[in-house]
Amino acid sequence: MVTPERAVGAVLGSAVGDALGAPFEFGLPGVFSARFPDGVGELCGGGGWDPGEATDDTQMAVLIGESLLDRGGLDLPDVFDRFRRWAAADPKDIGLLTERVLLGGEPWDRAAALDFRVEGRGAGNGSLMRASTAAVHFAARGRTATMDAGRRLAALTHGDPAAWEGTALLHELIRVALLDGDPLAALPDVLAEVDPRHRERWATVLAPGWRPEDATEFNGAVWPCLGSAVWALRTTGTFEEALTAAVDLGGDTDTVAAVTGMLAGAVHGAGAIPDRWTAALHVPLPGFGGRVLRAGDLRSLALALRLST
Ligand SMILES: [Mg+2]
Repeated sequence: MVTPERAVGAVLGSAVGDALGAPFEFGLPGVFSARFPDGVGELCGGGGWDPGEATDDTQMAVLIGESLLDRGGLDLPDVFDRFRRWAAADPKDIGLLTERVLLGGEPWDRAAALDFRVEGRGAGNGSLMRASTAAVHFAARGRTATMDAGRRLAALTHGDPAAWEGTALLHELIRVALLDGDPLAALPDVLAEVDPRHRERWATVLAPGWRPEDATEFNGAVWPCLGSAVWALRTTGTFEEALTAAVDLGGDTDTVAAVTGMLAGAVHGAGAIPDRWTAALHVPLPGFGGRVLRAGDLRSLALALRLST
């Protein structure tokens, strides 16, 4: 049985990480802790973001969650349509690859594959960042179902199977946490479910001794992003410490923190998320009538998704 507290923790924790990291995107390591020398980090705004404003990571997670509820399950063409409507409304932040795939005019089941064939790159972290809502929805269905859903949702925009496997891994780690298990202890079992052609590379970045400075790509790539999130969870004791460690890595801070937040939120529970990080949290939804979701709306969404399987 998925614990409500953990389901809310995953969805709200990811949104908080996104908003916390957004002002620091593309910055150097250590900028976050230098900004808050007393060790109490805040949602501060900057770089075009208001304090507490969530970015594309959370916006896309909400679109997936609402599609799952409205359609009574996974309706990939519907998710793609919602993504397209959002992308066409000119959101403040959208990944280059995601924008190309969504606005290129190709059908939902071919767009990402065609882009990957032309560009040869499709292993960005953009399918990890939006995983919280589907991970909650599919958790009760078991390992195979949630990993399969992770792969299919990733493949809507990302043509590289490495991104599919990473999203499947993240779904399963969250499932373990939502069911009161230890995702770090489960890692060897979860890695055994990864496509053998991609397993070694994933095992490298998820190994206990791996550190973000060992990364061979920018953390906007799928491997160091998930590796860094798991590292942040492994090397800290609280939600707040995990998120601080994630944002302090610099680089693609909103997404690394959004992924860290979904894992740490599922592990530590919604009660571990500081109130000062949820009070100003808000999620504008371009293309959907000027809607802006608040922490309470994300909480309701998570609880509905938990019961919707
Ligand atoms: Mg973002």
